[in-house]
Amino acid sequence: MKWKESLTGLASYKPGKREEEVMAELGLTSITKLSSNENPLGVSEKVQELQQALRMRTEIYPDGWASELRQTVAQFYQVEEEELIFTAGVDELIELLTRVLLGHGTNTVMAAPTFVQYRQNALIEGAEVREIPLLPDGHHDLAGMLQAIDEKTAIVWLCNPNNPTGNYLPLAEIEAFLKKVPQDVLVVLDEAYIEYVDPVPEKHESWIKTYPNLIITRTFSKIYGLASARVGVGIADAAIIHQLNIVRPPFNTTSIGQKLAQTALLDQAFVERCRQSNRQGVALYEAFSAKYPGVTLYPTQGNFVLLDLGIPADEIFHYLEKNGFITRSGAALGFPTAIRITIGEEAANKAVIGLLEELLVQA
Ligand SMILES: *Cc1c(COP(=O)(O)O)cnc(C)c1O
Repeated sequence: MKWKESLTGLASYKPGKREEEVMAELGLTSITKLSSNENPLGVSEKVQELQQALRMRTEIYPDGWASELRQTVAQFYQVEEEELIFTAGVDELIELLTRVLLGHGTNTVMAAPTFVQYRQNALIEGAEVREIPLLPDGHHDLAGMLQAIDEKTAIVWLCNPNNPTGNYLPLAEIEAFLKKVPQDVLVVLDEAYIEYVDPVPEKHESWIKTYPNLIITRTFSKIYGLASARVGVGIADAAIIHQLNIVRPPFNTTSIGQKLAQTALLDQAFVERCRQSNRQGVALYEAFSAKYPGVTLYPTQGNFVLLDLGIPADEIFHYLEKNGFITRSGAALGFPTAIRITIGEEAANKAVIGLLEELLVQA
């Protein structure tokens, strides 16, 4: 086979172990998964009803244009229908973006550590990856990123709030950055966690009218509780959307995914409930880190916390796992003594904090 040279040495994505597997392995009777930033409150009651009632004609191809979802999302974000693209999660959108813009002889600028798929996809396309370390407080180094841009730069990635740190840059700083980026460089503003930000940021989808080199990405996988439905959205100038549609597989989102996403978007009361529940969870971790001078908590606006305990990450991970909680070791995320924990329901948050306190006493 003539595999692209760029694939040499790249690993495939390793999903965490499933709950059933971990329980069987460790002899546990219950386990709580706090490793992938899924929504502990599940989905809106309206979506629950739909989940039960959905009887779809599965022999028919989905609407490749996602017309009904498109109309609802366009109204919700107050943009034109031609300014939207729907993909099988933002993961697929990242793939399409790199496919149309990156290759040998180009480069792409991103923070480090940030969401790993930007780098992975760029390397597969053979592009040079320019990683600009986060500032010590976990924020993107926007000045450093601007400096790294040259005439070969095709994409700049901003992840706001950033995964895995949770840091959030105020919109004014993002906009000041947008003003300085050359107009022939695409800026991807990945806002997978924007709905969790508190206080709620001003609507800024209209930025795409001022900055024709901007694409904002949103997902139904996080606060909308639809990770398994695989629906992501890109919001951008129609010219960008046109290029992406050339490489988009014609039926990349499913009928069920489209319907679930549309129904979920229209229940903003559920979103509000999730945002508040999440803030309460974050507050528990903030109080915990304030109590222990050796514990660093990155200032999160996402639905997860990155806690640096000064203990080898895998040790923290295994300790929590053996006590019934699946989290993400910081080792694979660029933080060798930290753990990333999705905010769960109150009982889970308190139990995890109790375990971390035990671990600190032992250390
Ligand atoms: C979860 C996540 C995504 C991808 O979500 P999809 O399920 O593919 O829509 C994108 N960006 C960031 C930063 C994420 O954390």
